[in-house]
Amino acid sequence: MDIRKKLHLVSLGCNKNLVDSEVMLGRLRDYEMTDRAEIADVLIVNTCGFIGAAKEESLQTIFSLHSVRKKDSLLVVSGCLTQRYKEELIKELPEVDIFTGVGDYDHIDMLIENRKSQFSNSTYLIDAEDRVITGIIAHAYIKLSEGCNQQCSFCAIPNFKGKLKSREIKSVVNEVKKLIDKGVKDFSFISQDSSSYLRDKNSDDGLCLLIDEIEKINMIKSARILYLYPTTTSNALIEKIVNSQVFHNYFDIPIQHISDSMLKKMRRGAGEKRIKEQLDLMRKAPNSFVRTSFIVGHPDESEEEFLYMLSFLQEFKFDRVNVFAYSDEEGTVAYESQNKISTKIINQRLKKLEKVIEKNTNEMLKESVGKTVKLFIEGENSEHELFLGARKLIWAPEIDGEVLINESEIENLQIGDIVEAKITECVGDKLIATVTRKI
Ligand code: SF4
Repeated sequence: MDIRKKLHLVSLGCNKNLVDSEVMLGRLRDYEMTDRAEIADVLIVNTCGFIGAAKEESLQTIFSLHSVRKKDSLLVVSGCLTQRYKEELIKELPEVDIFTGVGDYDHIDMLIENRKSQFSNSTYLIDAEDRVITGIIAHAYIKLSEGCNQQCSFCAIPNFKGKLKSREIKSVVNEVKKLIDKGVKDFSFISQDSSSYLRDKNSDDGLCLLIDEIEKINMIKSARILYLYPTTTSNALIEKIVNSQVFHNYFDIPIQHISDSMLKKMRRGAGEKRIKEQLDLMRKAPNSFVRTSFIVGHPDESEEEFLYMLSFLQEFKFDRVNVFAYSDEEGTVAYESQNKISTKIINQRLKKLEKVIEKNTNEMLKESVGKTVKLFIEGENSEHELFLGARKLIWAPEIDGEVLINESEIENLQIGDIVEAKITECVGDKLIATVTRKI
């Protein structure tokens, strides 16, 4: 019988938070993982503190774990919510045994052993830690940096994650090589602001330099970069990605708005003309995938500025778009505005945008029918056990969609296999495919 202590960990929020959770799992390898909170000796919630809904989810998760935990178990709360609301949470959550923020992921084992809360001053940035890759073993997120130097009016992240702190290229390359040895074939490079990589070390083209080094790694097959920022995404970087043999023409660039006057109010730095120039270059790239996000209802957004964004969305064909309702976050410039938009109007605008996005996304999906594409086998799927789950190799995990395989000319397909397939149908937001050969 396995007498190891049992660990239950819930990782909330973004994929950057997931990497930090994986670092904690790496430090707690002596524990047996369990998805049953009621039998766990240690329960960890790695929280998100970005916007209202995420904060609410973090609190609900803490309370629900507390309500089922066993006697004498330890409840640990880490991450962005605790970093942002340290004093309040320590006062208001007596049920929590250990509080830590975003600076001590690599000390979690010591904090648990000593039953000690700790908030180190600097934000933790992964280096050579031996993290536990969660999810599908053949894919891994690679964190490039922590913190952010941008000053977007609506965002509190720089307040609790601090200034941009980039990893050395050598550290990133070493981690990728280590993970390839462990069977990882597909990589997603992430941070709050990836295109600013190494700008804190006086390099304006850090990502270009990184791409060159990653391309030298043997056996690396597939990679993409998420979270490009308009002001630091140069034409040279776009060209570097387009010419890369390893990095897909995958362009994730949250623009948040398109009207010049709103982009100024949001302190985004780049204006409409520059953003449209970037998007056109990205859209023209062969087999490109362009993803973005918009915020609706930011203070001072006029009906005219909103309609301008709506009409742009009807014109420009994005592959995927996320749209967020403005969340009023204390500590941000927008929070001080005297011209907030009512929830009623925000929801009306949100609905209009979501309608256009759904129509465009379905049209983009339908364009794949009849085409031969590369797929990444993911195994399980949300529909039916008779289908094998996959995603287009260019797509990022979890956020870009699902391809269901109902036929295969290849036997014994494995999770993590990269295959060629013909898209035969589009059913709702799912693509159906037949595998033709293994790559
Ligand atoms: S780029 Fe803007 S939205 Fe993103 S983390 Fe930085 S300040 Fe926040």
